[in-house]
Amino acid sequence: MFTDYGLLLFMKKKMSGSSCEKRNEIDLHLDWLLQKGEDRKPRLLCPHCKQRVVKYFSVRRSPLGEMSIGTYYTCCEQCKEELSAISWDSSLEFRKFKFSELTHFHSKKEKQAVVELFKKVFILSCPLSKKKLFEFFSE
Ligand SMILES: [Zn+2]
Repeated sequence: MFTDYGLLLFMKKKMSGSSCEKRNEIDLHLDWLLQKGEDRKPRLLCPHCKQRVVKYFSVRRSPLGEMSIGTYYTCCEQCKEELSAISWDSSLEFRKFKFSELTHFHSKKEKQAVVELFKKVFILSCPLSKKKLFEFFSE
């Protein structure tokens, strides 16, 4: 679902622009979902200090633009500097675990990789049912 984050935003924009007086249920649901996607709490422990939960993920790109991300490249606030110090990669970017970050990734493949990483960070086990997702966004 969130690989289509851009679509969610588009739908939302379209709906708020409509002249309909009553905002419909879908619109309100979208609002809720988009808002909830911004403050989910990661559960994965920082792979570097193994003491605090992660706060950032870093994105690296090869000279050809190939992206690499993964749980190893996630970190907590305290380990952020250390992780950037050991990186020789000048393209290194740190991002937070917000679903709106998905708008920074353009290809479907990259969005999918980010969503997979989020599942690990939020410790969402597969297969994801509607119920599980609802619980996750309701926390
Ligand atoms: Zn740490």
